[in-house]
Amino acid sequence: MSHDDGPTPGASTRSVHATEEVDQATGSVTAPIIANSAFAYPDVPTWRAAAVGERPGHIYARNSNPTTDRLERKVAALEGADAATSFGTGMAAISTTLLALLRPGQRVIATADCYGGTYLLFDQILPSWGVECRIVPTTDRAVELAVEDGCELLYLETPTNPTLKVLDLRRLAAAARAQDALTVVDNTFATPVNTRPLELGADVVLHSASKFLGGHGDVLGGLACGSTALVQRIYGLREIIGTGMDPQVAALFLRSLKTLALRVRQQNTTALEIAQHLSTHPAVEEVRYPGLPAHPGHAVAAAQMDGFGGVLSFSVVGGMAAVETVCANLRYAYLAANLGQVETIAGPPATTSHVELTEAERATAGIPEGLIRYSVGVEDADDLIADLDAALALV
Ligand SMILES: *Cc1c(COP(=O)(O)O)cnc(C)c1O
Repeated sequence: MSHDDGPTPGASTRSVHATEEVDQATGSVTAPIIANSAFAYPDVPTWRAAAVGERPGHIYARNSNPTTDRLERKVAALEGADAATSFGTGMAAISTTLLALLRPGQRVIATADCYGGTYLLFDQILPSWGVECRIVPTTDRAVELAVEDGCELLYLETPTNPTLKVLDLRRLAAAARAQDALTVVDNTFATPVNTRPLELGADVVLHSASKFLGGHGDVLGGLACGSTALVQRIYGLREIIGTGMDPQVAALFLRSLKTLALRVRQQNTTALEIAQHLSTHPAVEEVRYPGLPAHPGHAVAAAQMDGFGGVLSFSVVGGMAAVETVCANLRYAYLAANLGQVETIAGPPATTSHVELTEAERATAGIPEGLIRYSVGVEDADDLIADLDAALALV
């Protein structure tokens, strides 16, 4: 199938068809799983030519493999990137990227509301390697001021996990570019269905594919996407430190990606409906969802997102005890540390996004304890709303 001509296809069409090709050896419609460790050559000169890059060819699966290559091409196409490289987890993608792009003495700006594991990289691990990490409040103005002070790399997440704050990617990427700094965006929450940060000026897009890209909670993975030169730098470290993805896992992601837009659009619609419902509920103190007009980041979100995402968070009247009552009585939400699955999943930050942090560290990062993060699955919205109402009636 040719993908080069005609009008730009929509997100669902791209989820199904982008970079897909019939397997030449077998005619298989779906990507074959090439599960192996090494690739054989008929003679040493041919082998050496492939090893040094003079002719195409795979050598060893820690470096590259046709099935992981396919996944990388597909996610790159969905993000509008020239290239991508894949990892065993989202944290492998994030840490390998940061280690590849930063050097001792350089400075990173990151926001307080970033994912718990990432926060610890900035707070503890990168400083121990001589990288200065400035963690600033999660507002456009605070980030912009910090960037104007000088930095080599700006690290952003939007919407944030689990506080659902929105940052203006176009504005902040432009501020970073003015300092010759790279902008790296963790696009796990939005997915390329809702936001494509490279179109807004970012240099590298990262994913925890374990969430929406996989969507079925059965596999962990990560990706880094960007220009060929930047991805080559990240890949250069990945192949040495061995943080790459297994081909069997890549095949599961390839299957999941065909329904990416179908799932995410459904999750966008249901999350908005639930957020609207909860925002008028007497037992709910506060709802955080960028699709609500009252959300402080709504205008920016409406401009940079095609949908507002499948995750919302809310706090309930009655504090932590009420949070525990509601969570324990949700029939259709698993209490688990994941999001973006076809199943609805709920829980407070102490057991989900910020489980790696102590209570004191969560307080420093400004992560409220009494918030319920609610990741909408693909169940019927009416059932989820009735379920939430029944649990909230108990507080
Ligand atoms: C889950 C998550 C990560 C970490 O990904 P893993 O696949 O669990 O290593 C990073 N960033 C965000 C926003 C996440 O939600």
